[in-house]
Amino acid sequence: MRAIILRTIPYQENAKLIYAYTPYGLKSAVARGVLKMNSPLKLAADPFKLLDIELSDKALPTLKSVKLVAHYPNTKANYEKTLLPHIIGETILKNVTDDDDHPKLFSLLVKTFEGIEHAEDGFDFLAMFMLKVLYFLGFGLKLGACHICGAQDGLGFDLKNHQTLCVAHGANASDQAWHEQLTAWLKADALDYHASPRDLTFKRQVFALVRTLYQDALDFNARSFQMYQNYLKETP
Ligand SMILES: [Zn+2]
Repeated sequence: MRAIILRTIPYQENAKLIYAYTPYGLKSAVARGVLKMNSPLKLAADPFKLLDIELSDKALPTLKSVKLVAHYPNTKANYEKTLLPHIIGETILKNVTDDDDHPKLFSLLVKTFEGIEHAEDGFDFLAMFMLKVLYFLGFGLKLGACHICGAQDGLGFDLKNHQTLCVAHGANASDQAWHEQLTAWLKADALDYHASPRDLTFKRQVFALVRTLYQDALDFNARSFQMYQNYLKETP
């Protein structure tokens, strides 16, 4: 089955425990001997590649075989891009449950990794993924109508209070631009989305929104969130 390993941890001698996301949900398995130089399972020693894996049938399965489908060399070569799969991986590992629509989420995950890999700036794919997953988990932004009067035209999104407003209830031009951007991300298909390079102010604003939304809806605050936020803060 197709799989992207999201996390590996040391396990006994030369082995690792792998946590992979697949179209059938999250799977954990023991990859025996994976740390040996000549291991046929070597590809499973690190996360974030698209693989074809075979697992045994046991309660804690072992990894029987692994084939490479795609690796993401541009992502690995760019410091900012290397941070993004960690955020995405941690979000899936901590929030996705058995009942979620795994084929759909897996497809979104693969498209997101492809998007980050091929775009000059992968940020939009991160934003798109995080906002879509929030919907997917049942906590989507309510962008369709003014939260006060229900009007559906000329809407804006107030970034401070996370509310959709109409012009009569205070939406200004900047709110309207945010509303348009958030709607565009939610509607877009990552497969044919063209991501523009973004400046740091834009990234900080969007990422702060994402963090607050996950905190409020799911009480989720990943370690990788902090790493990326530090990066956005420290980069001149
Ligand atoms: Zn209104």
